[in-house]
Amino acid sequence: MDQAKTPGQVYGKLIGSGVQAAISMNNGLITTVAPVEPEQLNTGTEELWIAPGLVDLQVNGFGGYDVNLAGVPMEDRVEAIKNMTHELLKMGTTSFCPTIITAGYEQIMDSMTAVRLACESDPLVDRCVLGIHLEGPYLSGEDGPRGAHPKEHIKDPDWQEFLHWNEAAGGKIRMVTLAPERAGAVQMIRKLVSSGILVCIGHTAATHDQITAAVDAGAAMSTHLGNGAHPLLPRHPNYIWSQLAEDRLICGIIADGHHLHPSVVKVMARAKQGRIVLVSDAVHLAGMPPGKYTTHVGGEVELLPSGRLQTSANPLLLAGSAASLLDCVAGYSQFTGAELSEAFTLASAKPAELIGEPQLGTIATNRWADLILFAITPETRKIEVRAVIKRGETVYSTSTR
Ligand SMILES: [Zn+2]
Repeated sequence: MDQAKTPGQVYGKLIGSGVQAAISMNNGLITTVAPVEPEQLNTGTEELWIAPGLVDLQVNGFGGYDVNLAGVPMEDRVEAIKNMTHELLKMGTTSFCPTIITAGYEQIMDSMTAVRLACESDPLVDRCVLGIHLEGPYLSGEDGPRGAHPKEHIKDPDWQEFLHWNEAAGGKIRMVTLAPERAGAVQMIRKLVSSGILVCIGHTAATHDQITAAVDAGAAMSTHLGNGAHPLLPRHPNYIWSQLAEDRLICGIIADGHHLHPSVVKVMARAKQGRIVLVSDAVHLAGMPPGKYTTHVGGEVELLPSGRLQTSANPLLLAGSAASLLDCVAGYSQFTGAELSEAFTLASAKPAELIGEPQLGTIATNRWADLILFAITPETRKIEVRAVIKRGETVYSTSTR
C-alpha cells in the first residue's frame, strides 16, 4: 500500500487530554501514542485535533443512499450500502449499524441480504459495519409511539421469523429495538440476549412495570428516548420517566437540536450521568444540500439549512434525522455544557462498549487505528474534518497532497 493511504503515523492534539501526540499505526492497530514537543511540529500549519472514529448504532441512510430501499434490484441495494459507508466515513463515522426498519417479511429479507452481500463483497464495508440494527416490526402500533413505522407491518415478536431474517443477514443482526408491551416480548428479549444480541426498548407505549420486566429480561438500551412517543403523556408515571429512572438502561438520544429540545437533552444527560449513547438515526437525505426532495415512499419533504428535515405538508412534522453523528457530538456538548471530549466518548467508546467492541472507540495501544483528524474553527467552534483513518488506512482526506 502506498504511504498516503497507510500513513504509519499522525500528529495532533488528543481530544480529552489536549496533549500533542504522535500516533503510530501498524497492521491496522495503534502501536504507540507518544507525546511530542511543540517544537517538533511544523510551525504555521493548522492545529489539528485527533478523536476516535465515531460508532453509530442507528443509521438508516446517508448522503442520498438508503439501507431500506424498496422496489429496486438487489445490486442497487448493495451499491447503496457501499456508497453510504463511504459517505459516513467522510463525516468521521468509522463503525455503524445499518438500521432496518419495519416492513413486510420479504422487504426485510431483502434488506438483510443486501447488507450481508455488501459486507461480503467489500472489505472496507465489512470493517465498518458492526452488525445490523433491526428496529421493528415488534413495536407499538399506536400513533405517536410507532413514529413513521408502517402500521400494517407492526406485529408481536416472532422468534422463527427473526431467525429467518438473521439467516439472510448471515447472522449479522446485532441489535433489536422492540416494544416491551407486545405479547411474548419478555420471552423474545431473553432469547435475543442469550444469543448475544443487544436489546433496546423503543417505539413503545409500555407501562412502568412492563419496562421493568423488559430490563429484568436483559434489555439494555432505550432507542432514541423521547422520540417515537405520544405528543401528550400523563405527567407521571410515563414511559419516558420510567426509562430515565431505570439505571440499568443506557439512553440513546438524537442530539441534533430538532428531535429533542436542548433542555431535554440537558435533563437526560443529568439524569443518566454519562449512561448515554449518541446516535444519529440519520435517513438517506442526511448529508445532502438543503432543498425540497421527494422521498421514495412518495412524500414531499424539505431539508432546511438548519438541518431540520420536515414534511412539506406539515412543517411541524419531522421526516427523520438529517444529522451526522458528528453534528450530534457538537450538539450534545452545546446543549449540556459538557466538554467536547465527553460528547466524543458518548459517540465512540460508550457505544463500542455497549455493543461489545472494546477494540473500538478509544485511542490506545493495540486498539484499532480508527481516527478522525479535525480542526475547530475558533469563532464558531465548528468541527471541520480533515482526515479519517479506518484501521490504519486513510479513507478520507481534504488534503490534495
Ligand atoms: Zn425509530
